[in-house]
Amino acid sequence: MKFSSLPLSKEMLHNLNEIGYKEMTDIQAESLPFILDGKDVIAQAKTGSGKTAAFGIGLLSRLKVKEFRVQSLILCPTRELADQVAKELRLLARGTHNVKILTLCGGAAFGPQLGSLRHGAHIIVGTPGRILKHLKKEILSLEHLEMLVLDEADRMLDMGFKEEIDEVLSFCKKRKQTLLFSATYADDVIQVSKNLQHEAVSIKTISTEKQNNIQERFYESSQHQKLEILIDIFSNFKPENVIVFTNTKIQAKELAQSLQKKKIDALAIHGELEQYERNDVLVQFANKSCPILVATDVAARGLDIKELSMVVNYDLPHLSETYTHRIGRTGRAGKDGLAFTLFCSHEIENIDEYKNETRLFEDASSLKKVNGFEMKPKYITLVIEGGKKDKVRAGDILGALTGDAGLQGSSIGKIDIYDRQSYVAIESKLIDEAHKKLNTGKIKNKNFSVWAL
Ligand code: ADP
Ligand code: MG
Repeated sequence: MKFSSLPLSKEMLHNLNEIGYKEMTDIQAESLPFILDGKDVIAQAKTGSGKTAAFGIGLLSRLKVKEFRVQSLILCPTRELADQVAKELRLLARGTHNVKILTLCGGAAFGPQLGSLRHGAHIIVGTPGRILKHLKKEILSLEHLEMLVLDEADRMLDMGFKEEIDEVLSFCKKRKQTLLFSATYADDVIQVSKNLQHEAVSIKTISTEKQNNIQERFYESSQHQKLEILIDIFSNFKPENVIVFTNTKIQAKELAQSLQKKKIDALAIHGELEQYERNDVLVQFANKSCPILVATDVAARGLDIKELSMVVNYDLPHLSETYTHRIGRTGRAGKDGLAFTLFCSHEIENIDEYKNETRLFEDASSLKKVNGFEMKPKYITLVIEGGKKDKVRAGDILGALTGDAGLQGSSIGKIDIYDRQSYVAIESKLIDEAHKKLNTGKIKNKNFSVWAL
């Protein structure tokens, strides 16, 4: 659809044409009519779908340029994203005279931001923490805010910005237009929308995209048989990597332990883990040092595993939307995915809404029994206490492992470098040799502590 079908100013239409935006993207076509109408909108669309222009065109069209005060605020998870958004807004605002856009992000010096704020702005783009700091110092006022945008809301929540966002909101007047953009509709995003928005119009463009290729199977089970059926599923379908979802964090923890006792290598992620523990678990799962991850929905947020062969709903989710979200993690990029769901007899009523022609409801006794089945990872992860800040690069680690008749490159898996730590996956049977090599040898001419996870 063309932008000219919308009630946009001549200048805006002219500029859109100039910058080469001929047709609206799906998310723009679906959200802009509501945004221009002053409605609250919650919109889900994948990355690169043109969300910035969707809210950007909306807020620029509603801006009263002659009233020089802060009318729009856009909150972003990171400085890089805020810079991108500001850049796109400036491009979109080219046709409108004298629109002042200011970015306020952490990691940048505070002083110059003070100076810029004194000169005033129409639109502020920034990260929640820094915006809050300016609000608390009363340098920034949101008294006249007309439009609030939460961009990449799911990522902001993943990064722990919930409290800061709430606090920023306490500085705004009640009546304003609020737009929320997110790549996923997880429960916490919906919760934020409920708290923040008024009769929000909900827009999803994901469903029109190519469907994943997922085989879905359901088994009825009593609570105490679930573990056995789960293991039968593993032994019959031999997945390379699996996420098993439970509804509570206690169950996640317990299930991982029960699996370990049965020689099935599993780790749990749940809300009680410290950030570094969470990272240790996610790295091990992603680099194939652990084939099974047991997770709650909240803990699995933001998890980006490209090739996942199986998803199991150990507990039936409370919402069918959660189900869709969970199983959507498998069968990506043209690969086949498997999705299994266990449900108890007391859930039979809820299960009706899951029934359709493509989903298989089977008796768990149809699964073969495999004696002595085990699941061991291909790799074991070594942690090196040195990272980007120590100028450690993947090549340095690889060099230390393979140099002087060391390991073959083929026995080394994924390497992840973080600020202060690095992780390297080593073929399980070579772990001692690799550990010794890193302990005695040097990386960047330094001896870093090394340990296995
Ligand atoms: P998202 O925020 O959804 O990840 P962006 O807003 O960053 O995506 O847009 C992705 C790219 O698409 C940007 O380079 C942007 O300039 C471009 N773009 C946005 N809308 C249009 C359009 N209607 N026509 C052509 N290009 C567009
Ligand atoms: Mg974006």
